[in-house]
Amino acid sequence: MNSSRLYLDNAATQRLRPEAHEAMVQAARELNPAGQYASGRAARSMVEDAREQIAELLGADSAEVIFTGSGTEADNIAIQGLAFGSLARRAARVIASADIEHPAVAESVDWLTAGPIDFGFDRFRLPVDPSGRVVVDVPELDRQLDEAGDVAVLTCMWANNETGNIQPVKQLAEFARERNIPFHTDAVQAVGHVEVNFHELGATTLAASAHKFGGPKSVGILLARRDADILSPVRGGGQERKLRSGTVNVQGAVGAAAALGASVKKMEEENRTMATYRDQLRGAVEGIDGVRVWTNEPALAGHLHISVPGAEGDSLIMLLDAAGVDASTGSACSAGVNRASTVLTAMGVDVAIARGALRLTIGPDADAEAIGDLAHTLPQIIERARAAGMAY
Ligand code: PLP
Repeated sequence: MNSSRLYLDNAATQRLRPEAHEAMVQAARELNPAGQYASGRAARSMVEDAREQIAELLGADSAEVIFTGSGTEADNIAIQGLAFGSLARRAARVIASADIEHPAVAESVDWLTAGPIDFGFDRFRLPVDPSGRVVVDVPELDRQLDEAGDVAVLTCMWANNETGNIQPVKQLAEFARERNIPFHTDAVQAVGHVEVNFHELGATTLAASAHKFGGPKSVGILLARRDADILSPVRGGGQERKLRSGTVNVQGAVGAAAALGASVKKMEEENRTMATYRDQLRGAVEGIDGVRVWTNEPALAGHLHISVPGAEGDSLIMLLDAAGVDASTGSACSAGVNRASTVLTAMGVDVAIARGALRLTIGPDADAEAIGDLAHTLPQIIERARAAGMAY
């Protein structure tokens, strides 16, 4: 770790919180939580305490909390599991999602609807407006879904990982509930950053990921209503309500609970500070000729996603790296090659403009002076990236 650097890629992963680190050290040498003996009971009691804490913090029952191997795995179990559950139970074949989803959801939907095996599912695309939000026009959605057929699963992320824009999940959850459609929300960017209450939302399933709120990497949380009809693609020993077989990661569960507790406790204060820094950086770029800002309120407090027409996102990142700032374009890269963001193109942004994307995501430990320095140098970095031009 180089503490003199400014880390602005918190949407990718956040540094482990001290509370999580301490809790994980305590739990690191625990044994098999499924064991029917004293050491097993000790490990199990740690997992169950963590489950209860998480349930309370997210407005769920502890039986609804499933530990998984990542946010990606939680999304896969939910999307594929609900789709196959609906197919088996009532021959429902439509999977409804928007083009702004993270690959954890998008690839699951693609696998089911357009993959190498014909499962018989059809894709329905939810519309996205130019501000980066999924459009919920209830009569129109009703009409289109009536035409499309029985919906096996409807899914919408809580907050977008690139723009940070909060999505209309409450309206979609209500829409789905009134029509008995299973509804999944990928809340990986939201949990620990905005208030999340699973029961109030009324979703069927919800995915979260510990490392996005200062917990350990490769620890996911799936909230699944008890009556959720999920045929999980993860098969094995039957742990975690048979939804996620595999020995439970005791220190991961404990670390996730400690990190979530700390995030929720400090949420208001941290969000206030991060929003101030975000606005400072936003102010520094907003007036620059042609620069477009894609983060539109309501949005996550630490997110700033922009495009610089005439520059490559990769150039911006390399110049920032050389200036001591860790940042990213925000879009999932394929084999190390950054492509135009599908989130931006789904919003109707031109590919050439989408290629100049830069995502700055501020964390709770950002330093005021370093943010001030960056606000000062960012216009010059943008100018230099533009001078380097486009790759082709
Ligand atoms: N969903 C969203 C919205 C994300 O931002 C991410 C990670 O970037 C994931 C899912 C995947 O989470 P994980 O890294 O825990 O697999």
